[in-house]
Amino acid sequence: MAGSFKTEAVVLRSIRYGEADRVLHLYSPEHGRVGAVAKGVRRTKSRLGGRLEPMARVRLVMHRGRGELCTISAVDTVHAHAGVREHWTALQHATGACDAVLKLFDSTDPNPAAYNLLCNQLALLHSDPEGASQARMLAFRMKLLLAAGFAPELGSCASCGEGEGLGAFSPAAGGVVCGACEAGSFPLGADAHTYMVGAVGRPLAQADRAIAETLEHHAHVRLRRVA
Ligand SMILES: [Zn+2]
Repeated sequence: MAGSFKTEAVVLRSIRYGEADRVLHLYSPEHGRVGAVAKGVRRTKSRLGGRLEPMARVRLVMHRGRGELCTISAVDTVHAHAGVREHWTALQHATGACDAVLKLFDSTDPNPAAYNLLCNQLALLHSDPEGASQARMLAFRMKLLLAAGFAPELGSCASCGEGEGLGAFSPAAGGVVCGACEAGSFPLGADAHTYMVGAVGRPLAQADRAIAETLEHHAHVRLRRVA
């Protein structure tokens, strides 16, 4: 599929390349992960440069040649999310959101739910940087897990299907487990369980651990823990 195409995307990461270029990791609702080179963007006269910062949501015209990377020929800003850079915690959370998408969604399969989630999270962090909370970051990760198809089993024992006495979480089994199946698990309080089911409410260290370890076990990725 060579030739020019238009797409929207979020800039996940930008890496210096050659004398004046940058290689960008982009996430697009229609094309999933796209690698692209932005030529000459590090020159001061570049029209593209300032619009291709990480976390920016942009509309692009790109050209796909024979190589692995597309070439960017035009950029329009949809949302720069500049407010994110004014606040340290918001910046950390926005970087973390891009990092999570970078690690979990590396294929060209489109996943509009993941894209919309990322855009919503960045827009929220931009408009309300003071409100960047652990709870919001955790809820984002839960929803991103769901979009990726890695939802942990929370309704019944992930090992035997038992519906009662679910007091532990097993990363290996991929969810909550009952007393008979709790080998290799760690205790999960009722509050944490309730939190995970709703993906809202108070941030709990147990829920964070459950999410992080499920990811590590099943997706073979390690996300930075919420500090
Ligand atoms: Zn069981």
